[in-house]
Amino acid sequence: MFVCPNCDFQLAEKAKLCPSCKADFGAGSSWVPVYQDPPKPFAPNEVPLNERIGYLVFIVFGIADAAYGVYAGQVYIPAKRGGGSHIQGPGAWVLVVAILVGVANLVAHILDHYDRRDNERVYELFNTRTKYAFWGLYIIGLFMPSKWW
Ligand SMILES: [Zn+2]
Repeated sequence: MFVCPNCDFQLAEKAKLCPSCKADFGAGSSWVPVYQDPPKPFAPNEVPLNERIGYLVFIVFGIADAAYGVYAGQVYIPAKRGGGSHIQGPGAWVLVVAILVGVANLVAHILDHYDRRDNERVYELFNTRTKYAFWGLYIIGLFMPSKWW
């Protein structure tokens, strides 16, 4: 499709004049319509079912871990080879917030699948921000002293 070089208005084929800004494309005029690829049709994000289930499992575990953290005043951090460790004190509270941010991030991933609107950019921004917030808080929580005194 061709658009007006002056105002980006979409032009009819072989237009001699821009209907919007009246730029003249006739002979002797320096205005020439420019070709632009037509916009791609919008396709909402799809999240495969197994991924959605995976997110859901993490959400449930995350909420359970955060609830346990609030209840017990300590947060359990699982380790790869079992065992894991318990973080207590102020770090535990930072970790509870980190887990809830992580849960919000995963909830948004699932919502994105069911949200058919053309707003993927909003999810992208939310995803990036909550991801950085999660890792930031997580690391701060892990390395906070378990007691202030
Ligand atoms: Zn124009």
